[in-house]
Amino acid sequence: MLNEATICDTAETLRPTHAEINLARLTANYRAIETAVAPAQLMPILKANAYGHGLVPIAHHMAQLGTPYLGVAFLEEGILLRQAGITTPILVLGGIIGNQVPHFLKHDLTLTASSVEKIEQIDAAAQQMGVTAKVHLKIDTGMERIGVHYYSADTLLEAALRCRHCQVEGIFSHFANADAAHLDSARLQLERFEEVLHFYERRSLPPPRLRHMANSGGVLQLPASHFDMVRPGILLYGVYPSAEVSRTIEVQPVLSWQSRVVYFKVVKPGHPVSYGSTWQSDHMVRVVTVPVGYGDGYFRRASGQAQVIIRGQRYPVVGRICMDQMMVNIEWDSAYNNDEVLLIGETAEGTAVTVEEIAEWAGTIPYEVLTNINTRVPRVYVG
Ligand SMILES: *Cc1c(COP(=O)(O)O)cnc(C)c1O
Repeated sequence: MLNEATICDTAETLRPTHAEINLARLTANYRAIETAVAPAQLMPILKANAYGHGLVPIAHHMAQLGTPYLGVAFLEEGILLRQAGITTPILVLGGIIGNQVPHFLKHDLTLTASSVEKIEQIDAAAQQMGVTAKVHLKIDTGMERIGVHYYSADTLLEAALRCRHCQVEGIFSHFANADAAHLDSARLQLERFEEVLHFYERRSLPPPRLRHMANSGGVLQLPASHFDMVRPGILLYGVYPSAEVSRTIEVQPVLSWQSRVVYFKVVKPGHPVSYGSTWQSDHMVRVVTVPVGYGDGYFRRASGQAQVIIRGQRYPVVGRICMDQMMVNIEWDSAYNNDEVLLIGETAEGTAVTVEEIAEWAGTIPYEVLTNINTRVPRVYVG
């Protein structure tokens, strides 16, 4: 359980760099989303190491909050959670291969059935093992990723009715554009999903207990897509899925990333900094070195644009970002060895560097900034 004030990875004391995960903020975000979507329930999405926040600790925290379901992308992620003692129902959202099915059943993981063939494989494996498989049917309404196409979904829904060893607990779809400014495409997908669900009405059958479609964009912008359950990922971690999305729910970033100054020097004009000698000053400057680089998942592509916070001020990272280090130009300000460097986060006075900014500097999206922070960076849980 994560109710101590601080849980430190032992490595944290050895390396002056860590990502701090604020569990109080995570709780607040969870509750804000829960309130906004009620009576729909939450399935927090914990794929990709819980968007970089740490799969197992985040799952334990969600379980403590009483979450009814968890979502991950891959079988292995589900197994890791079971091995960590998580008993909450877990839906594995991704596509499955036949020989994985027994492992799902063994670990009581809910399967995504995305075609007639897949649900028949699941049913056969469940029969052989003498168990009932928990299944959610996946309908492709316009993402063209996995799932039976909406226009031929009846074949899968009928096959599901024939399966004797599956409990079809859910049915779901996924938006391609729910975080956009214009929602025509998302609304079309929603209509297609609703049309698929009419299958049950036409046969006077109850639909599966859990109908779900909304990712963070849908949670924020399409209340009609909330159905019985919503699947927020990035929003839960306090980051909005796009710049355009309406911020109808207020959330706070959960992750911050800190390091410390390990070296201070004065650099003369005309003396270029770092590989490739891409940057030099035309006057004397103070430059500090920070022991973080692209080997930790800080994008090298942000070279020339990135900024960090030292002593409450934003300063530019200069020269190429290296694998393990980066250099910061503090002009003629003061900084000392061991001073805190904020790569992501905000100071008490409100000076911030956001995940969104790093995404822009690196030509990517906030999702990738978070999932890119790798395991060399210890996670420290506070609150
Ligand atoms: C990743 C994912 C989500 C969560 O998406 P966010 O945009 O992070 O909210 C929901 N559903 C599925 C199927 C996903 O793959």
